[in-house]
Amino acid sequence: MIRPGLVSIVGAGPGDPELITVKAMKAIRAAEVILYDRLVNEALLSYADARALRIYCGKSPGQHAMTQEMIQRRLIDYALEGKRVVRLKGGDPFVFGRGGEEALVLAAQGIPYEVIPGITSAIGAAAASGIPLTHRGVAASFACVTGSRCPGGTDGPDGPPIRWDLLAHAVDTLVIYMGVGQLREIRAELLKHGKAGTTPVALIESGTTGLQRTFVSTLAEVHQLAAAVQLSNPALIVVGEAAMIREQLHQLQHQASARIG
Ligand code: SAH
Repeated sequence: MIRPGLVSIVGAGPGDPELITVKAMKAIRAAEVILYDRLVNEALLSYADARALRIYCGKSPGQHAMTQEMIQRRLIDYALEGKRVVRLKGGDPFVFGRGGEEALVLAAQGIPYEVIPGITSAIGAAAASGIPLTHRGVAASFACVTGSRCPGGTDGPDGPPIRWDLLAHAVDTLVIYMGVGQLREIRAELLKHGKAGTTPVALIESGTTGLQRTFVSTLAEVHQLAAAVQLSNPALIVVGEAAMIREQLHQLQHQASARIG
């Protein structure tokens, strides 16, 4: 009997191919099979052995994405063939990455696996935009929330509804993933539950990549800004006073360069 191969569930980081861990890079180098997602920067595949099998799991034009079940089946089948498998995911595999589901399936089959964390897009994009998610006197907490379970969202009824009523008040900085399509609903929920219309909101598109765009508005006006700039995925919505630190940084830099220059 062949000993099953190790499956590494690996975080590829938020987009910039240098924002990956040494451990993740080593796992990619050692892999015989790599199953990678849409948000993974393909430059990372250059670390792989030339003979490694590269399997794209996202949606490509005119083709259907692989279902989660198909991906899991492949992970199991390659591991049972004794292959060293890497499951490469954008950001961190355990933050809206379905890494937990894959770990459960592998564990149930008795297949050895490891999880290698990655910089989740909230952390990467905030850093690249000058938005400290916590800041003394401004923000003492942050939460990562999915926007896809809002009314009209794609995640539908799986799982409990998001408690926007509580999040509006209990957390200082909200980082909303998968929220671009539901921005209007999210905005309406937060306003309905008493979040001030003047609360700063940042929109970060393609954070940490060469295509990054960051915009800052207020909760009252953010939907108009998103439409005006044609905000597109992948993007994060950051709600909270911390978003203003970006503006302060810009002002200070501007003033300093005026003094020097
Ligand atoms: N596991 C990933 C999240 C996958 S869910 C992570 O840890 O980051 C997909 C969502 O992540 C997107 O809808 C978007 O909201 C966010 N996202 C991923 N990469 C991003 C990037 N480079 N810039 C902004 N948002 C990003």
